[in-house]
Amino acid sequence: MSETKTPGEKKIGSGKTLTLKPRTETGVVRQSFSHGRTKQVVVEKVKRRVIGAPGEAKAEPVAEPVAPKPRVAPPSARSAPAAPQAPAPSKSGVVLRTLTDDERNARAHALADARLREAEERRIAEEDARRRQSRESIEKAEREAAEARKREEEERHRREEEAKRKAEQEARKRFGEETAPATAAPAAPGAGRVGARPQVIEADEDETPRGRRPGAGAGPARPAPAVKAPRNAIPKQRTRLTVVNATNADEVRERSVASFRRRTQRLKGHHDEPKEKLAREVVIPETITIQELANRMAERGVDVIRMLMKQGHMAKITDVIDADTAQLIAEELGHTVKRVSEADVEEGLFDAPDDPEDLEPRAPVVTIMGHVDHGKTSLLDAIRSANVVSGEAGGITQHIGAYQVDSPSHGKITFIDTPGHAAFTAMRARGARVTDIVVLVVAADDGVMPQTIEAIHHAKAAKVPMIVAINKIDKPDAKPDRVRTELLQHEVQVESLGGDVLDVEVSAMKKINLDKLLETIGLQAEILDLKANPRRLAEGTVIEAKLDRGRGPVATVLVQRGTLDIGDIVVAGSEWGRVRAIITDKGESVDDAGPSVPVEVLGFNGTPEAGDRLGVVESEARAREITTYRARQRRDKQAARQTGMRGSLEQMMAQAKTAGRKEFPLVVKADVQGSLEAIVGALDKLGNDEVGARIVLSGVGGITESDITLAESIGAAVIGFNVRAHKEAREAAERDGIEIRYYNIIYNLVDDVKAAMSGLLTPERRETMLGNARIQEVFNVSKVGKVAGCIVTDGTVERGANVRLIRDNVVVHEGKLSQLKRFKDDVKEVNAGQECGMAFESYQDMRVGDVIECYRVEQVQRSL
Ligand code: GDP
Repeated sequence: MSETKTPGEKKIGSGKTLTLKPRTETGVVRQSFSHGRTKQVVVEKVKRRVIGAPGEAKAEPVAEPVAPKPRVAPPSARSAPAAPQAPAPSKSGVVLRTLTDDERNARAHALADARLREAEERRIAEEDARRRQSRESIEKAEREAAEARKREEEERHRREEEAKRKAEQEARKRFGEETAPATAAPAAPGAGRVGARPQVIEADEDETPRGRRPGAGAGPARPAPAVKAPRNAIPKQRTRLTVVNATNADEVRERSVASFRRRTQRLKGHHDEPKEKLAREVVIPETITIQELANRMAERGVDVIRMLMKQGHMAKITDVIDADTAQLIAEELGHTVKRVSEADVEEGLFDAPDDPEDLEPRAPVVTIMGHVDHGKTSLLDAIRSANVVSGEAGGITQHIGAYQVDSPSHGKITFIDTPGHAAFTAMRARGARVTDIVVLVVAADDGVMPQTIEAIHHAKAAKVPMIVAINKIDKPDAKPDRVRTELLQHEVQVESLGGDVLDVEVSAMKKINLDKLLETIGLQAEILDLKANPRRLAEGTVIEAKLDRGRGPVATVLVQRGTLDIGDIVVAGSEWGRVRAIITDKGESVDDAGPSVPVEVLGFNGTPEAGDRLGVVESEARAREITTYRARQRRDKQAARQTGMRGSLEQMMAQAKTAGRKEFPLVVKADVQGSLEAIVGALDKLGNDEVGARIVLSGVGGITESDITLAESIGAAVIGFNVRAHKEAREAAERDGIEIRYYNIIYNLVDDVKAAMSGLLTPERRETMLGNARIQEVFNVSKVGKVAGCIVTDGTVERGANVRLIRDNVVVHEGKLSQLKRFKDDVKEVNAGQECGMAFESYQDMRVGDVIECYRVEQVQRSL
């Protein structure tokens, strides 16, 4: 209260000074607005009052509190001493307000309290008032003294400033107006303050003595339009004064190292955030290292690794991840992804369209397929009129090659000698569509066999027309018609049975109907209307490739389009080379090879793989570009696979499916790539959910010591197909106890592996039902326990057999019979219709009416 009043008294003082205000009216109003609440009000009030009568309207709220004073004791008590002041405060808005509040409070109190206390309150109030009056008078005196002092001080300041300003003005006059803005700043406020200052300061002092500075600061607000910079400078000064630098103003700008670091960190952080928000288009190739991905996204490698970890994958920054994973990460980080295939370098390498006018007829490419020993090799050899069967192991064709023969009326026909449909499909899987016609050899004495059916499926899947060659018709037990009927079951309908599949009865041995077979092939080829453009860069497929000691890498290539010339730069898979020599199937060296011509190509820098497509490029640089890309791609894909990041869902599911299966590790070495592929393909197909062959290493060439070391380290079996172990390898194998098995027939090899893998299968548990018995009575036999008296209802019951106790169709016990008695004798078995006594091993709770089911469990070894 006393405080509120003191300002009131001040206001009286200020009231006097306020009279000065009208002069600087607008300025003062602005000052007040930009600073405190009360100050503004004071200024406004005064202004309005000065303006005239309307001010009294504002005084009305004042009148109200004044009015209740006489009514309510405390205010009235206050009104007495306050009375002389009252008119003064009424002039100043602040005082009026504070008084009103007080009175309202007081009135609220009075109303809330009982009126009976009025008198007492009045007395207390009077005392209070008296005390207050005395206190206030003292304070007033003090304040007035202080004000006087202040005023003196102000005046001194003003005088000083005026003096300064004058000096400055003089200086300005002397040095010209240009320097004015800088010096005007401090001078201008002074000028503004001349009249305003006393009022401003007094108003400030009402509430905040500190407000003097803002007041002073606000002073220049008026001249602000003239000079802006100093206005900005002043708040800075102010902060400096309030904080550390009251003592040492010069060191203000110095920051501590920590604060500096914090600041830079903060700044850095701010820089990072917008970067993250920057959605980049991230180019993602088929495989990418984590480092590279992070770089392309402009993210930190650790962030990428952290995300991978969240997905349960531990990775190093140098690890390669596949495109799908990379895309997930990039998208999660808010980037857009552009999947590119580096295969763009291969663009234009293959399948450039030909002008139909350039196309010329070409020889059909024929593959002979069929069950083992049905005479594939014999037939091919008979056609070539060269007997190579004797040089082989008699079973299956082991070398992949291709030969061209002349047919009597339809020009040349190219035969591909595959080791079976496995290689055929393996090639097809790599996109090499080589074969135009499949000749299915079926022995007339043997009929349709499993591999015949497989061959049919393969041919159908490849949508390649089929010709059935019913072989061995020279044999007395040959039943060619039976073969035709059997084929019907597999949706192969030969012509004579109303279908569209051509069939020829042949004998490879007796060379019967071979011409007819060629004729039929020619006919079929005519229907297919096979054409190719021979006048263009060659395209073809590698049918076989091997590393020849003397000649280096040798690839058997079937040219499919264009013409391959010596000196051409060829690319196949991840190998390239310049054609050094072209050798035909007859061993002749030629200068070029046209469409459908199979040739051996020398000059490759490395051995390509069977099934690789061969293309001719214009320059070595291009060849290098393509092959390095392919090599890298292959390497990356391998690495990605090893990292455990599976490319597709199917792969993941396949992995999950095979996770718990037993593996049969194998090291396979073969003489040529084609055979190796066929073997690997066949072995991969072996096995089921439980067991599977895992080919740890497969390669072409003899078995080396390192193969044995590898096999030993993982406990793999070593298989050599048409190859032998080196001496050191043999010794190492003996030393380590590793068995090397040699084969020259693929099917034997596969059968052996199959048998070995079958051993890994858990034996099957098979139940054989023996019979049922019903409990008719339960006896308690001393030493034995409970014995059930039963009647065998069906089958037999055997001692030692497994039993189930069934009560109301619910199995209540499973165990073994401990005793089987017929009358008092132990018996081995009891047949249907007979009565017997039965006791269970460790089970007593049998009841009348229970059924005893008796069965035997057999372990059956499964096979693949
Ligand atoms: P592949 O495994 O299908 O390549 O069959 P082969 O060409 O190796 O022949 C298997 C066996 O059948 C060989 O012993 C041949 O002598 C025999 N053979 C092949 N063609 C005929 C034939 O037309 N008549 C008879 N009687 N035997 C044949």
